[in-house]
Amino acid sequence: MEYQPIVGEGNLTYGMANPGYMPAAERGPALLAPPAAAPQGPSAPPASMFDSMPGYEGTLAGGGGGFLPPPMPAFPVPQPEPGPAQPSWNIPSISEDTARGAFVLFASSKCCYNSGPAKDGVITRMDAFNTYRYRLETFTESRSTEWSHEPYRDQPVDAFAQPPPGPWDVPAKAPTFFVDDQQIMKVPYTSSTKPCHVCVGMGRRPCKECAGAGNKVCWVCNGSGFRHGDDRCLHCSGRGRENCNRCQGKGSMQCETCHGQQQLLVYINLTVKWTNNSENYVVEQSSGLQAEHLSKVSGKELFRDTQYLVYPLVGFPDPTVVNAAQRLVHDHQGKYSRTSRILQQRQTIELIPVTKVTYSWKGKSHIYFVYGNEFTVNADDYPATCCCTVM
Ligand SMILES: [Zn+2]
Ligand SMILES: [Zn+2]
Ligand SMILES: [Zn+2]
Repeated sequence: MEYQPIVGEGNLTYGMANPGYMPAAERGPALLAPPAAAPQGPSAPPASMFDSMPGYEGTLAGGGGGFLPPPMPAFPVPQPEPGPAQPSWNIPSISEDTARGAFVLFASSKCCYNSGPAKDGVITRMDAFNTYRYRLETFTESRSTEWSHEPYRDQPVDAFAQPPPGPWDVPAKAPTFFVDDQQIMKVPYTSSTKPCHVCVGMGRRPCKECAGAGNKVCWVCNGSGFRHGDDRCLHCSGRGRENCNRCQGKGSMQCETCHGQQQLLVYINLTVKWTNNSENYVVEQSSGLQAEHLSKVSGKELFRDTQYLVYPLVGFPDPTVVNAAQRLVHDHQGKYSRTSRILQQRQTIELIPVTKVTYSWKGKSHIYFVYGNEFTVNADDYPATCCCTVM
């Protein structure tokens, strides 16, 4: 099915409409995950600084509130549609020349390997262990809120002009599908001004260096005003105290929280996070090549299906791929719709070529593997790994 962009005034695009969800007006306040920790520290703002905002009652300062679950679907989510027609699943194989070429390249890339076995070994057998990799990507959007503040410099103040939109109703930009991203913005109608809690609205704070005095004990004469008996201290001209450099003798410094503005703009920050959750399944092959090697190579893409929600695979010749696809599609749609909103899914099947090559060198039989589109070689039993001992 098609996904409709939400278009606002001036044709700005505000994210994607998800047909499975209803607007905030038709449901209660947003649910909130339990807080991880209460805000702490001497400069933590008091709770009284934050107004009660309908729909945002559990929002904490400094985050820790976790991600907001998306609203419940108002009607059953649209059923996924079967993917495109299946192509013919043909299996390519590599030639002896390709296998040898890759092997020689491999041996020459190892500084200490003697290239004899790669160049002169006689290939006696080539077996294909081509395997499939199924990949499911689920692109999700999640949202979290926190109370924030910044120095007040005549920003718009809009709290209580009207009720704020629910966290899932605030328009966000249109994300690029399958690319991680995030956007942080003020929730409309939550911004108000408050006196700065750190300087109590003074704009300045006592200097820590001189405890607000503007001067401190002279470090040269340690406050006596004299050095070596009757010699007056030149550093402080005998006063015993010197001006505080940190505050230039003023005894106070600009408040770091309000930057001297005395007032803070207090508002709810919304973080919209887009995540591509990708999971692979590789069919086990019995070649003896460790499966983890395959994660580093690419294969030939046989199938690609991109939809709002993908339909479990049908008709693929390998039943283990079909089963894995079914399991992953079920897992992802269950897992990610609880804490986030699924915007798009993509499933792909790649055929990864794996060839086991048996060759003989100096009367003994050895093997190596050539795998992936890159013709990557693995040869754990290479017979001449040090050019000093083997000629
Ligand atoms: Zn002195
Ligand atoms: Zn000072
Ligand atoms: Zn302040």
